[in-house]
Amino acid sequence: MTDDRNTMSCAEFQAQLPELIGSGADASTHPHLQSCELCRALLADLETIAEAARQLFPVVEPPDALWKHIEPAIKDESTDVEPDAEKKKDKKK
Ligand SMILES: [Zn+2]
Repeated sequence: MTDDRNTMSCAEFQAQLPELIGSGADASTHPHLQSCELCRALLADLETIAEAARQLFPVVEPPDALWKHIEPAIKDESTDVEPDAEKKKDKKK
């Protein structure tokens, strides 16, 4: 029978798993998991590992987003400090 056209094999599912997880999709809703306890367990393991990895290596914010926070702070400081520094230089001259 060709029933297994609808039921993905474990190998096929596991080959897609990194992409599924990487894409941010909820891999736990995948149809294959509804019928496969083995892969459900595998996914649970992977999520445990991924969670541990997140704690070890916190997700780095995209530089652009980070810069939006940093840039104003730098500008604030430099406008505070610069006039003072300029005056000191002027006095010396
Ligand atoms: Zn499976």
